[in-house]
Amino acid sequence: MRRPERRDDRGQPSARPYAGQCGVPATMHGKEAAIAPALLDGLGLVVDVPPGLDTDSLGTFTGEIPRAGSMREAAIAKARLGMAMTRRPIGVASEGSYGPHPRIPFVAGGIEMIVLVDDTRDIIITECLVEDEPVYRHADVTSSSEFGTFLDRIHFPQHAVIVKPNAFKTPPFPIYKGLRCRRALAAAVTECAACSSDGQAFVQTDMRAHMNPTRMAVIDRLARKLCRRAATCCPCCSTPGYGQVDIETGLPCEWCGFPSQLVRHEIFGCVACDHREHRPRPDGRSHADPGDCPHCNP
Ligand SMILES: [Zn+2]
Ligand SMILES: [Zn+2]
Repeated sequence: MRRPERRDDRGQPSARPYAGQCGVPATMHGKEAAIAPALLDGLGLVVDVPPGLDTDSLGTFTGEIPRAGSMREAAIAKARLGMAMTRRPIGVASEGSYGPHPRIPFVAGGIEMIVLVDDTRDIIITECLVEDEPVYRHADVTSSSEFGTFLDRIHFPQHAVIVKPNAFKTPPFPIYKGLRCRRALAAAVTECAACSSDGQAFVQTDMRAHMNPTRMAVIDRLARKLCRRAATCCPCCSTPGYGQVDIETGLPCEWCGFPSQLVRHEIFGCVACDHREHRPRPDGRSHADPGDCPHCNP
């Protein structure tokens, strides 16, 4: 059922469309420590975690249970699980994906996505960000004497690690998570190397938010970004969640006017109606350098 939006004295859509409402942050691993204060500050939306919520059943970082569907689908499924358990009509969940950087070759990167599912308005608000400097690394070692600078570079033990055999023989195989003690880490490496068909243990940063403070800080930034979007209402239908949905390339060359691959417009859109708006680049550039022109600089 769609509720009329609250409006302030000037007849503009309220900048706090979620003030005083209750939602559920469908998260484990302490992510609510970042998400809940951000939603309260930014939107006045109150969220708390229901006891017994098991988001690991929807897929885990360490890959024992593969994640189904896209990141957005997985985040929505998590939010809906929390909403079903608590019978609340608003749910928030996030998903992260770490690996090769999406834009920079040979560098690690991360993408974090957060969704706010709002069944009172029948909308889903999505926000994401790319993390350029995640604490995300792995090493193959036969013993803990081979770590070298690895543990310093991942800021161990503030950032915990997981250890498993590098090449699995037959299951069951050992897997150690959340290791923050050097002695336990050394024992895990010895055991996992012995279980691996190549004699090596695979050691990786534990990317669960409560084990990786860098990731927790990223989730905090992302939750605040979500709040800014959720507090922005569509100029056409006043539904919350208005923001950038796409880009359009083709910034014209300043010499010949040929369209380049650079961004020409940011496209803003609504999550409920078809309203779309082309906005100029935030940096004010109206033309591309001839060096970026496929015509002048093929
Ligand atoms: Zn040109
Ligand atoms: Zn709209």
